[in-house]
Amino acid sequence: MINLRERGRDRLPTGERGYPPPMRATFMYGAGDVRVEDVADAKPHEPTDAVVRVTLACVCGSDLHPYHSLPTTDDGLPMGHEFLGVVEEVGSEVTGLAPGDFVVSPFAFSDNTCAFCRDGLQTACVRGGWYGVPGIGGTQAEAVRVPQAAGTLVRLPPDVDEALLPSLLTLSDVYLTGWHAAHLGRVAPGRTVTVIGDGAVGLSAVLASRRMGAERIILMGRHPARTDLGREFGATDVVAERGEEGVAKVRDLTGGEGSHVVLEAVGHLPAYEQAYGVVRPGGVISRVGVPQYQQAPVGTDSLFNKNVTLTGGPAPVRAYIEQALPDVLEGRINPGRVFDQAVPLDRVADAYRAMDSRAALKVLVRP
Ligand SMILES: [Zn+2]
Repeated sequence: MINLRERGRDRLPTGERGYPPPMRATFMYGAGDVRVEDVADAKPHEPTDAVVRVTLACVCGSDLHPYHSLPTTDDGLPMGHEFLGVVEEVGSEVTGLAPGDFVVSPFAFSDNTCAFCRDGLQTACVRGGWYGVPGIGGTQAEAVRVPQAAGTLVRLPPDVDEALLPSLLTLSDVYLTGWHAAHLGRVAPGRTVTVIGDGAVGLSAVLASRRMGAERIILMGRHPARTDLGREFGATDVVAERGEEGVAKVRDLTGGEGSHVVLEAVGHLPAYEQAYGVVRPGGVISRVGVPQYQQAPVGTDSLFNKNVTLTGGPAPVRAYIEQALPDVLEGRINPGRVFDQAVPLDRVADAYRAMDSRAALKVLVRP
């Protein structure tokens, strides 16, 4: 018998009377197979949990990796890790939050108190974890159980202008993942930054680099609608070429020196190869695209001879939310422009299709 809790949602017994009303949640059953199903409503499992009713969620570029490669599964993988919502219920040990609070959640949960959290690396929290894995529900759903709620959730103003919601949602992941890339890349005034990838994270990395004062921002991408937005976000140059040709173009643009900082927001090996091709001697490669490879060159011709620093990893967005919030609330940045479509939750499969075919950059999901 399947352990229903392991699945992330208690499956609704069909036809059973007297069971609590169901909610809708998204599961992936294999590559290309996304379904929205009735499941038992989210409820706290631990005294440190909260339940949040989802106001706005979305599909992430990283959701497309299982969309291409997930082996067929009978149980389904709960999907989604970004959301804004309203706290509905808090466990007995949750402090600082009450039902009715409007909140944003980072894509990973964390206690925000352990040694790694205190270092600003909440994605390594000893009591932390990820949404959208078995045992924890996904957030492309009507409600979410949030573990370690007091450390994870950040309260937002209750009366925030609805037009700001997409930008606030980017604080769940993409904008601050771009910010993390730039932060680890030591972007600063006077630096030349090359961003590889014109997806939502790449464009966010452009916006964050601009906010950090980068002098020149070269965006490597070949989808004009996206690179146009990249220019509005602060890219000074766009390079559509890839591989050797793209590397040569960036080297030309930098007087043959290469780029001080390279932010890699794709995750495939050719993007990494481009990164060490364009990085300047003494420069930094910062990766936030989830690597779809386990082995890559680090030897003399790639990193060593150029004294290159390689950094990056899952962004501890919890560390950056409070700092970014005033920029969004006061309209200095509008990272929510990466959303170019919206679907109701029951049509979330259309959102995956649209993003997979690149008909959409990033799609909002409204429960
Ligand atoms: Zn922690």
